[in-house]
Amino acid sequence: MLKTTTSNVNDRVPKTTLLVDDYEISNTVLGLGINGKVVQCSNRKTQQKYALKVLLDNPKARREVDLHWRASGCRHIVNIIDVYENTYSGNKCLLVVMECMEGGELFQRIQDKRDGAFTEREAAQVMHDICVAVHYLHSKDIAHRDLKPENLLYTTPAPNAILKLTDFGFAKETLIKDTLQTPCYTPYYVAPEVLGPEKYDKSCDIWSLGVIMYILLCGFPPFYSNHGEAISPGMRSRIRTGQYDFPDPEWRNVSQAAKDLIKGMLNVNPSQRLTIVQVMRNSWIAQYTQVPQTPLHTGRMLKESEDTWPEVQEEMTRSLATMRVDYDQTHIKPLDNSENNLLKRRRKLEEISPKA
Ligand code: ADP
Repeated sequence: MLKTTTSNVNDRVPKTTLLVDDYEISNTVLGLGINGKVVQCSNRKTQQKYALKVLLDNPKARREVDLHWRASGCRHIVNIIDVYENTYSGNKCLLVVMECMEGGELFQRIQDKRDGAFTEREAAQVMHDICVAVHYLHSKDIAHRDLKPENLLYTTPAPNAILKLTDFGFAKETLIKDTLQTPCYTPYYVAPEVLGPEKYDKSCDIWSLGVIMYILLCGFPPFYSNHGEAISPGMRSRIRTGQYDFPDPEWRNVSQAAKDLIKGMLNVNPSQRLTIVQVMRNSWIAQYTQVPQTPLHTGRMLKESEDTWPEVQEEMTRSLATMRVDYDQTHIKPLDNSENNLLKRRRKLEEISPKA
């Protein structure tokens, strides 16, 4: 029999040689994350600059690195260049060398834009680029689950900079494992939308896309009572029930096509939310170069509400965390471990009178 050799995920094994033999670590801190610092480093041979993320080696960090590595290869995802497994003061660490993003965050750039107002067409181009990243991930059965403005970075401050998605700390493999695919799920008492748990994780990313698209088009988030105002305690329930609108004057000149797409992405029912394939096929995304060049209020609104931006970020972070928990809980347990009473009765019945 012919044996073909295909490269697989397992080919990606962290190097056990010393990172410092290949890279020089600089004192420049690029950012602080929940799991530690991201610092600049440079390749000793080429002098090329990279970003270095240091993670304590544990199963969660392994999962993050594995999924991020598998996602590397897309133009709109921050690519991993190298991974090392080194010990620092007795602690095993994973050292992740990534492309260095020097152009800052998406919305900072729009706010700082000097050459005229940000237009609907530019918003469509940005959305297209983010969708390319999400499509790449979803086609590889990976849900990012933490798609938010601070994880969208530009390569350089130059005008031709490329927007890329990063931070795979909450990424999840969505492929249904064999054990879940087998008919141990009894379909007749399970609601159709409960089947296919992978759909929920992916729909989290689509909700994020909807929120990001909304902010791109007006400069404030969708679930605000009055933009510029502090987020009220009722915001969470408005998110859940999908209460948002497209207020004037910021939305007056925005195309109906854009509003319809946002509605499809912010559908409160995750099983009815658009999929990334549907989003990519939508003409506002697919033909983004044809989208009207309507000037938007985005830059001005972002600048005016600069002080409340951290709250917008915090709220999106909280909403995503809630959504991840909610969706994880929606996943039904394999019947073998189920405490379901109906099932227990049926099992008993089957014991008494086994099917022929
Ligand atoms: P965490 O998962 O711990 O939150 P992140 O991966 O989000 O860490 O990184 C933390 C911060 O470091 C980011 O907000 C960003 O400012 C900066 N950063 C992360 N990756 C890069 C990169 N590749 N290039 C430049 N800066 C980066």
